[in-house]
Amino acid sequence: MRRIQVSKNFCLDELVSPRVHEKWGENALLLMDDKVLPMLEAIRKNLGGVPLTVNNWAYGGGTYQHSGFREPEYYKRNSDSLSLHRFGRAIDVKCSVIPAPELWRRIYEMETLLHSEFGLGGIENILKTTRDNKYGGWVHLDFRASDNVVIF
Ligand SMILES: [Zn+2]
Repeated sequence: MRRIQVSKNFCLDELVSPRVHEKWGENALLLMDDKVLPMLEAIRKNLGGVPLTVNNWAYGGGTYQHSGFREPEYYKRNSDSLSLHRFGRAIDVKCSVIPAPELWRRIYEMETLLHSEFGLGGIENILKTTRDNKYGGWVHLDFRASDNVVIF
């Protein structure tokens, strides 16, 4: 598979599943909120250039496929879900060199900037997502319509 670079530090496969990548190719970018990549780049830069992971199915033997856009098949058994992942308006971010709770805290410190510059609207409580072994959890960020960043 040819990886498709879609911003300075991110490839398309990091935002969509293998199925969507294969079917839509570069057009799959249309499925994501257009603030996702600029916001990821800004977070990465503010953290000193650390590597950030959303999906990792395309490299390093990772298994995350649905940490960005989730296609309809993902919700077959949960078809009334209104998760913003379904609309390309949410990402679950991990970092191999910063533990998830610390990553959460450092992103939360940027919330004013991320809200005003990119429209960040929601951050999931880290206590709900610290269950994964490799990264010790993830930080869910979404672009819900909101006057401020909601912690939920
Ligand atoms: Zn999420």
